[in-house]
Amino acid sequence: MAEIRRDLVRNCWVAIPANSALKPAHFPIKRRGIETVGNQGFCPFCEGNESSTPHEIMAYRKEGSQPDTPGWSIRVVANKFSVFQIDEALEKTDLGIYSNYTGVGKQEVIIETPEHGIDIHNFSQQKIGQLLTVFKTRYNNLAQNEKIKYIQIYKNRGIFAGASLEHSHSQMMGLPYVPRTNAGLPRYFQKKGRCLICAILAQEKQNGVRVIYESEHFLLICPYASRFSYETWVIPKQHCEHFGDINEAQIIDLAWVVMIFSRIMTDALDNPAYNLVFNSAPLNMQFVPGYHWFLEILPRLLVTTGADISTGMYSNPVAPELAAELFRNKMLKLV
Ligand SMILES: [Zn+2]
Ligand SMILES: [Zn+2]
Repeated sequence: MAEIRRDLVRNCWVAIPANSALKPAHFPIKRRGIETVGNQGFCPFCEGNESSTPHEIMAYRKEGSQPDTPGWSIRVVANKFSVFQIDEALEKTDLGIYSNYTGVGKQEVIIETPEHGIDIHNFSQQKIGQLLTVFKTRYNNLAQNEKIKYIQIYKNRGIFAGASLEHSHSQMMGLPYVPRTNAGLPRYFQKKGRCLICAILAQEKQNGVRVIYESEHFLLICPYASRFSYETWVIPKQHCEHFGDINEAQIIDLAWVVMIFSRIMTDALDNPAYNLVFNSAPLNMQFVPGYHWFLEILPRLLVTTGADISTGMYSNPVAPELAAELFRNKMLKLV
């Protein structure tokens, strides 16, 4: 019997089989997972091609090396194809029944390594820690601009996750509005007077069937209403609204968790396309209770279908209990 489960954070429904699961090898697109649509002949993110990107905003570099030249290990640049301009004023125009806003915002690209062909699952704990520190630094810098109301950090890996370039990179988007995607969090707080993510932490820890691993500062689970097969959430155990407030001990712990989990996932799902999504809280506006930052790791093993789009109900052929069991067993062998 299948179940239709409610995702309280995203406010959507997910159809999930109760006792069966597609094994990783059954997914038709996995072998094509890390293909990309971009020009594979020339890579603007490779070391030596720094002049092909906008100027460097921030970088980890060898001492004495100059900006926009080789010698870096992580490099942040503006997104060349961004639709946003931070210098514009936010203005609304009505066109009969339609309306639009000026494209106020900012989009940055974090080039994670100078080396082409390696990715997070190849990185050391120290390297992932540096990457998280760059995310935190840029997050807190963008957050200072009053026009920015929400910052989304994300990574697209492979064509089925929306990547246009193969070279390992993440992106950060400062938006002039708060997206509706996490609206379930403030709604739950309004109704119940407590944080939904803290409630999920408590129930999943007690129940245990969807827990993959618990580290000092984080709990890894396959969520109850996983929209994507093998979807995984990494949740800070201490209530905290903004990713930008992550502390040093949490960065070290998260770097370790991401290193181990990315290796396990890449191996178990045969090098899949995936998205990383850092969910955080609104900025530069009156405090809205109920947000609690967390990281989503979303393998993209199936293409979104007409039924998903038309009904808003995702269909996930892998029960999260079975996905968690697979990851948990692999994790136990490694740690
Ligand atoms: Zn490259
Ligand atoms: Zn919380």
